[in-house]
Amino acid sequence: MDKKTNKKPDKKKLTLERKSSFDTMDAAWHDESYAFAERYRNFLDFNRTERECVASFAKMAVEHGFVEYVPDESKPGAPGYIFIGKGKAIALYRPGKKPAKEGVNLIIAHIDSPRLDLKVNPLLENADFAMLKTHYYGGIRKHQWLSRPLAIHGVIIRADGTEINLRLGSEPGDPVFVISDLEPHLSHKAQNDKKVNEFYPAEKLNLIAGIIPDEDEDAKERVKLAVLAHLNEKYGMTEEDFVSAELEVVPAEKSCDVGFDRAILGGYGHDDRVCSFMGVRALLESETPEKGALAIAVDKEEIGSAGASGADSVFVMNVLAEILVLEGNTADIMVRRAAERTNVISADVAAGLHPDWQEVQEKNNAARLGYGITLTKYTGARGKGGANDANAEFMFRLRKLWNETGIPWQTGQLGKIDEGGGGTVAKFLAYHGMNVVDSGPALLGMHAPMELVAKSDIYAGYLAYKAVFEKLL
Ligand code: MN
Ligand code: MN
Repeated sequence: MDKKTNKKPDKKKLTLERKSSFDTMDAAWHDESYAFAERYRNFLDFNRTERECVASFAKMAVEHGFVEYVPDESKPGAPGYIFIGKGKAIALYRPGKKPAKEGVNLIIAHIDSPRLDLKVNPLLENADFAMLKTHYYGGIRKHQWLSRPLAIHGVIIRADGTEINLRLGSEPGDPVFVISDLEPHLSHKAQNDKKVNEFYPAEKLNLIAGIIPDEDEDAKERVKLAVLAHLNEKYGMTEEDFVSAELEVVPAEKSCDVGFDRAILGGYGHDDRVCSFMGVRALLESETPEKGALAIAVDKEEIGSAGASGADSVFVMNVLAEILVLEGNTADIMVRRAAERTNVISADVAAGLHPDWQEVQEKNNAARLGYGITLTKYTGARGKGGANDANAEFMFRLRKLWNETGIPWQTGQLGKIDEGGGGTVAKFLAYHGMNVVDSGPALLGMHAPMELVAKSDIYAGYLAYKAVFEKLL
């Protein structure tokens, strides 16, 4: 009871009610969400590697008048600036009404997805098959990659320095590559009693690449030779050119609608191309913001954010420093002050409640498909180990913003305590004093070749990120 007014509180408002956006948002809103999902589908189906995502985001930004930032040359006054890191990370900056020294709003996501990489020397011949050896990248469950069509995307730099962009297997009419699993008739001793992560050893994750031998009957390894002859004819390459290549083996199929109601989009690489797409579209389509708006897509999150194009590198802080240079501020302390005044959405997908595996989640805190964008205070493992753990003050600001703008949102956590765990880029930004929280749509089957996401959650995320750019101070 309120002592001053003597009024009893409205009991309906005491409880946090978690509702699906299918109950809270109208049909027109959901129509918009389906339309937004189509834009995302086109992006997802074309962009299967970090490099492809970077090139597409740069193209989108150019269409909105953004210019590539050139150190010592770029001048203030452009609608926006593009910063590219090693071809595999990208930052898009849109100046706000306030200078960046007062901090910016940053939405950062990663564009690398779990996959198989071709080894540096991938090609070999085994029992009259030409095979391509792989090394898995990120947290895959190996059995999910067996006996299904795979494509190879990436870059090859030939001996003369010329670059080939390879995309093979993902367009109609292309050949695909397959890691052929054993048949049930022959897997009893070899596989069936082994643990799921051991029954298919990583060194057997090899793609079938051909069976026709070279016509020279005196040659050694004639099938491998025939593949090399084909590669030479088609791409002008030799075996040594694999050394200066980055070739990624990814699912060949395009994304698809799932269920009678088509409310779910199934596809490869939602983690985290969905968040990077939502962040970039939100930045490009926002009204001129108060604070500067920065959308960043980084590489290598799935292997610990390492490397020069990952979040645990100088890329983000260098971009911030260059933005301050544009404003005439060159002192190092100014950059660090700007960082401390910066708000960050570590835009990353959450693990949704699986109807058949509810026991791995704690239902009071699990994110659900269709319930809106997820706000995740902490990730980590074994007692929040490795988590950023957003503070109450920043959680409050987002909760208030998204409530006031009528965006469907929910909270989430990465499963039951001690069930497993994982991390995001959040902690690498928090290190610089930025306010950081994780937020993204909930998925089912994260890291699988086909991940599931609710279209309404993609749209809710786009609107949530747009509200951050337009309204968060
Ligand atoms: Mn992931
Ligand atoms: Mn992710």
